[in-house]
This record gives sequence, structure tokens and C-alpha cells, in this order.
Amino acid sequence: MANRSILILDDDAAVGQTIQWIAESLGFEAEFVIRPEEFFQRLDRMCPDIITIDLVMPELDGVEIMRLLAERKCRAKIVISSGMGSRVLEAAQRSALEHGLSILGVISKPISKEALHLLVGDGSECDQLPWIEEQSAYGEVFEITRQDLQNALDRHEFILAYQPKIECRSGLTVGFEALVRWKHPDRGIVMPNDFIPLAENAGLIDPLTEQIFEQSLEWFSQSFPQSNPKLSLNISAKSLVDIQMADNLSALCQRFQIDTERVVLELTETSAMVDPILSLDLLTRLRVKGFHLSIDDFGTGFSSMVQLVRLPFSEIKVDRSFVMQAPHSSESRSVIKSIVELGHSLGLLVTAEGVENLKTLDYLNSLGCDLAQGYFIARPMPGEAACNWVEQRKQGISA
Ligand code: C2E
Ligand code: CA
Ligand code: CA
Repeated sequence: MANRSILILDDDAAVGQTIQWIAESLGFEAEFVIRPEEFFQRLDRMCPDIITIDLVMPELDGVEIMRLLAERKCRAKIVISSGMGSRVLEAAQRSALEHGLSILGVISKPISKEALHLLVGDGSECDQLPWIEEQSAYGEVFEITRQDLQNALDRHEFILAYQPKIECRSGLTVGFEALVRWKHPDRGIVMPNDFIPLAENAGLIDPLTEQIFEQSLEWFSQSFPQSNPKLSLNISAKSLVDIQMADNLSALCQRFQIDTERVVLELTETSAMVDPILSLDLLTRLRVKGFHLSIDDFGTGFSSMVQLVRLPFSEIKVDRSFVMQAPHSSESRSVIKSIVELGHSLGLLVTAEGVENLKTLDYLNSLGCDLAQGYFIARPMPGEAACNWVEQRKQGISA
């Protein structure tokens, strides 16, 4: 298997060269460039696994470069480097995450081999993603029309990946979150952020949700017919307009013989609910019927404290932007700690998502956070792989 590659952008040639040597000594294929123009040309040719970007540069600065990378839907992992203070580095990291980039972390100059190693690992390490995540890292951006989505629904091109949730304390598997993907006949796997907002605006979110629920409940009933684990499903706030939804969903659970207590409905953008009173009624009805409700992405502008108090939630999910930054950011750790305390004081389960390393898991455990989900535990995977994962983990834990 080929070694992993790093592309380095730093306006100071001496620094760029040093990072290249360090990266090569870690087993990476590494190249460095000093000008943004050259960087984007090299990017297209090289398709690196990792990019390191200097924050302060005379032409385009690092923040601007990351904005352009986000526009290109770049999926390489990014390391931000700079001699600036940690708060500036953290703000840059946050901005990149909010643009949807995948950030490995920040690194202060002068860069040491140990620090880079800690962030990027070894160049020869197998870092292959399961097939479900496979897609061109530099796939061209393509327009999706309403008709494309309608066709995809008619042809049943939407599939599901399942990401395990574990109990922090024991490591036991307690559930899965179903995450939709579009298996496009020409484009490969298309990720939900690229089509869910469009489905919402095109009035197709309800039929899409229906297909997702049916498919995932069927998988769940066949794979885990007993009383453990739970299945988490995402619901768009825009869907909370049909008072019949609670009955339809209960009927679906009955059809697959799944106790509603085993289904968690995750809601994002609670502040964007179309009709606040109707959604309160609807969510209360769902809760009365036994479903659990989870407030997703908590701590972001979309999931507010007002909604937390007003609606009958049973779980809080700490937004992954805080969790992913926990190892580097004391501010993020403070936010997580407060959310865990808030959740527990309201009698809710707290889940942290975006757990990418052991350090974060240990930290969550020390706070008494209940559940964890993230790439460190497992990536979202096809149904069959998820079942195998549970079996292997059981053996691992009991061994
Ligand atoms: P979400 O509900 O917050 O889902 C978690 C996202 O975090 C997933 O992205 C998951 O792959 C990703 N993730 C999990 N662990 C880690 C980690 O350790 N590091 C990083 N960097 N990311 C991690 P995905 O699958 O791309 O989904 C994005 C969003 O699309 C979801 O965010 C959710 O809002 C929406 N979505 C996904 N499936 C559905 C669905 O069936 N219905 C609706 N309405 N929305 C969905
Ligand atoms: Ca979710
Ligand atoms: Ca979330």
C-alpha cells in the first residue's frame, strides 16, 4: 500500500522544507510550496491525504485558503500551523470546522517531530476508510436538482451507514446512529450535508425520511431483535409539521416489532421549527408513545437552551465541534463540562459525538459523560459491518 502524502503550504521556504523533512522521516510522501497559486495546482495533481497550512502569509492567508478548500469540498485532513497564540489558532480551527473541513488540529511553530507525529501519525499507517465513506477526495462539485433527488427516491438509491454509540464508563455498545448516504450511480457515495438541505427546501425531506426510517428499522429488527441496543434516527425540524407523524412512526415500529423505547429521534436546528406549538404537541406525542428524543448539535446556534427546557428531550448530544477540539482547547473542554453538568441536572443522558482519540474519551469519562460516538470508536459503516463490529467488540471486551 502506498504511503500517505502531505502537502505543505508555508511562505517561509526554510520552515516548509523543515516540515517536509520531518514528514518524510515519519514515512510520508511530502512536498512543500510557498505560494497559494502553486498550492492549488499541486493539490489537484497530488491529492494529498493531509495538508498543513501556515496561518499567516502575505498573499492569501491561511483562513482564506481554507475557505477556498471548503468551496472545493476538500476532504484532505488539515493541520493549521502558526506562531500565533493559541486563541487565534483555535479560532482559525473553528472557522475551518464550520466550513465543513476536516481538521486534524493545530500546531505551534517551531514545529517539532513529536508534535507533528502526534497529530498525523505515521505515513505508512493504514488509514483506509470503510467503503461507505469512499469517495473522491477532490470530487468536482456538482449541482443537484429536485428532479435528481426525486429520481433517487424512486430508484431507492439512498442507503444507510450505522455509527456505534458506546457507554463511556464500560465501553459497551449501547446503540447506533443511522446516517444516510446517496449511492449515486455515477458520482459514488454522496454525503448528507450535500443533499439534505436541498431535500428540505425542495419539499422532499418527508419521503426521504420515510425511506430512511423504513430501511433502518428493518435492518435493526433483523440484526438486533432483542431489547438492546437502541437505534438513533435523525429528524429534520422541517418535518415536524404533521401531527400524524407519531402514529405513522409507531405503526412502523409495530410492523417491525420494535419497542418504541428502543428508538431515539435526534433533532437539529430546533430553533428553525416551522410551527413551535405544533412541534411541541408532536414531540410530546412521540415521547408519550415511548420514543426517546435527543437534542442534536447542542451548543451550536441551532439547538438552543430555550428549546432544551421547552421540549421533552431525554438526551443531549454535545456538538462535535467542541468534542473534536477538546484535546487542544481549554474553552471547548469548559463548554463540554458545562453541558454534561446541565444535562445531568435536567435528568438527561449526555452523549458526546466526534470523539477522535483516546485522550478525549478519557476526558469525557472523567466528567461522567454517559455516552460517546466518534471515529476513535468506529466510523459509520454498512449494516453488516456494524453487526460484525458488535460481535468483535464483545469478544474484545470479554477477552
Ligand atoms: P449529525 O446528526 O450531527 O451526525 C454526525 C455526523 O458526524 C456524521 O456526519 C458523522 O459521520 C460525523 N462524525 C461522527 N463521528 C465523527 C468524528 O469523530 N469526527 C468527525 N469529524 N465527524 C464525525 P454525516 O454522516 O456526514 O452527517 C452529517 C449530517 O447530516 C448529520 O449530522 C445530520 O445532521 C445529517 N443527516 C445524516 N443522516 C440524516 C438523516 O437520515 N436524516 C436527516 N434529516 N439528516 C441526516
Ligand atoms: Ca445526529
Ligand atoms: Ca450532531
